[in-house]
Amino acid sequence: MTFEYAPAPESRSVVDIAPSYGLFIDGEFTDAADGRVFKTVSPSTEEVLSEVARAGEADVDRAVAAARRAFASWSALPGSERAKYLFRIARIVQERSRELAVLETLDNGKPIKETRDTDLPLVAAHFFYYAGWADKLEHAGFGSSPKPLGVAAQVIPWNFPLLMLAWKIAPALATGNTVVLKPAETTPLSALFFADVCRQAGLPKGVVNILPGYGETGAALVAHPDVNKVAFTGSTGVGKEIARTVAGTRKKLTLELGGKGANIVFDDAPVDQAVEGIVSGIFFNQGQVCCAGSRLLVQESVHDEVLDALKRRISTLRLGDPLDKNTDIGAINSAEQLARITSLADQGEAEGAERWTAPCELPSSGYWFAPTVFSGVTQAHTVARDEIFGPVLSVLTFRTPDEAVAKANNTAYGLSAGIWTDKGSRILAVANKLRAGVVWSNTFNKFDPTSPFGGYKESGYGREGGRHGLEAYLDV
Ligand code: NAD
Repeated sequence: MTFEYAPAPESRSVVDIAPSYGLFIDGEFTDAADGRVFKTVSPSTEEVLSEVARAGEADVDRAVAAARRAFASWSALPGSERAKYLFRIARIVQERSRELAVLETLDNGKPIKETRDTDLPLVAAHFFYYAGWADKLEHAGFGSSPKPLGVAAQVIPWNFPLLMLAWKIAPALATGNTVVLKPAETTPLSALFFADVCRQAGLPKGVVNILPGYGETGAALVAHPDVNKVAFTGSTGVGKEIARTVAGTRKKLTLELGGKGANIVFDDAPVDQAVEGIVSGIFFNQGQVCCAGSRLLVQESVHDEVLDALKRRISTLRLGDPLDKNTDIGAINSAEQLARITSLADQGEAEGAERWTAPCELPSSGYWFAPTVFSGVTQAHTVARDEIFGPVLSVLTFRTPDEAVAKANNTAYGLSAGIWTDKGSRILAVANKLRAGVVWSNTFNKFDPTSPFGGYKESGYGREGGRHGLEAYLDV
């Protein structure tokens, strides 16, 4: 029996979106030098939410110059003083979390229960966590007097707009760097609201600058000669381009790129618990998660049982209005991303994998993709190799732990993996052999600011989060 749920929409009235926004440079909102703008739309309705200034090269120059001026005094502040600003930002984010959660849901399309219960609490937690480090850097294991690098150029994607901003800005400021950040073109709004949070916190002008724009803005920013550090999260293709730009300069670089995470289910795993983990591993944020468990490796003896239970569970997921508190699956972030998911799923079918789609109705406007499972997948199939970045799961089988490890590692990526088994010794033995930056056991997609995150191979290099995350912003 499935339940009918009455609509339970979160109110939009808690957020006041202006018809237009400028760039945030040197503590002020300002137009782009060439006057260019772009529109940001709600992926669930295609409604235009606002018009945003689009930064060009001249604006990148202005923002980097502002960050450079601010660096002298910001880096000279005692860590305990920088910490006060970070604590203040964390508290303001908490106070405004309902407003920011609704805003993020509108601009990104993800369900309100995710922005409210995951994104926003983690954003505040990151600022609290790195505030705690700001006056203890000499005890972090990077020498007795670690120095900041200078101006950090940061480019982030659209899947966790405010959370990726927090992952980048919190450690940069704690260590005494100043920042120019470019949000993704489809989700600029929460970064611009964050600029307002910085003003509210009394952050000295120029310490944080926000430059909305497209890829060309990001390219100009990372190539700017007066930048000391580049931090990028996004696709592997763009990451490689940035690595080429930065090669031969003295800029320090961290890259957080794509993934094709293996979620490994052994025959002694509690099936119901594993099914919950598989669902959250691939359908959280519509699968638009770099560390998604997009390849399910099931031990052959429990394949049918797991697949049946999984389909039953997926059939109960509620897809629709992301502002509804009962919604599990929201909208895909953009028409381009929807086209990419659609084309890769079609390719899976054409190559012979068996496609199953959850029985659910898709809204008539907006960008939607129903939860989809491919079974009978082999390692040569495109859906087993390429990052789909959508609600599409590929199911493969294995017989022995060694085969599971070999298949899990048979990918160009190395960001995340999951292990489901009753045996603690097997968890440790398998985890040790997986080439993945994060390995979850009997859970999936759990994040904590104290824990480092990052990849192997084409998933990038460097770590964000935890004590390790400080290193990327220190001259060590
Ligand atoms: P993308 O690489 O297209 O864009 C990411 C950002 O880079 C955007 O702000 C974009 O405007 C900018 N950009 C585009 N071209 C650029 C260029 N030539 N120079 C500088 N900046 C440029 O990625 P996307 O489609 O927005 O995001 C999805 C990708 O991000 C996926 O591959 C996903 O796995 C990855 N991702 C990784 C992590 C991680 O921590 N490893 C986290 C989230 C997303």
